[in-house]
Amino acid sequence: MLRLNRDLIIEIAKRKGGLSAVSRMLGTSRQNLDSMLQADKGCTLRTLGRLVDALGVPLGSLLVSDRADGSEPDALVAAFEARRKVSLHRVGHGYDIHRLKRGGCLMLAGVKVAEGFSPIAHSDGDVVLHAVTDALLGAMGLGDIGQSFPNTDRKWKGAASRIFVQATMEKIRAESFTVGNLDVTIMAERPRLAPFREAMTKNLAYLVGGVINVKAGTNEKCDSIGAGKAIAAHAVVLLTRSR
Ligand SMILES: [Zn+2]
Repeated sequence: MLRLNRDLIIEIAKRKGGLSAVSRMLGTSRQNLDSMLQADKGCTLRTLGRLVDALGVPLGSLLVSDRADGSEPDALVAAFEARRKVSLHRVGHGYDIHRLKRGGCLMLAGVKVAEGFSPIAHSDGDVVLHAVTDALLGAMGLGDIGQSFPNTDRKWKGAASRIFVQATMEKIRAESFTVGNLDVTIMAERPRLAPFREAMTKNLAYLVGGVINVKAGTNEKCDSIGAGKAIAAHAVVLLTRSR
């Protein structure tokens, strides 16, 4: 018989932002996590795996065995290790679009690429960094940028969007993941972005690491992007567990 090591989970959760933060990482409600802990019984392999990921501790320490020798059933450990192997990589996609207004400057991937027009946004409206943040959060199963950095929060008004990427990367590194590669596509009618590609690539490499690729194109005069009224970006990221 195996039971969850309730005291240890609560203790570690305190350092990870509390049980509510852990339940979000598990993709379950706080109520479910509480009942799982209260029931004091084992949970599914999938949930065990997520607990290991969320708390960053080995499976063995999360479980308490009633066996006299304290050992874990081999079948459970083998099944768990098999699950770990298939989750060495995680992929995430992000998309962002902002309308443009006159005045201000246009930031893309943390690089100033134009003056005289700018995104309508709560923060600096950097569509690349917003799409990258969403891709990173998506890969980790942590929801989206609006949940982590609400645009109703005055704290983010006019904020440099690299803050969103950096805060998200801290969570990713804490779970022992690193960026394998990041592929970004920017859709903008203006300005011509080729001269800024290298600076944008370097900035993204500094922020997230890994292999970075930045592509840019117009929207062939189609829709609001093609009319120069909006700007958008897609990002796809692959995360790799480093241990
Ligand atoms: Zn945005």
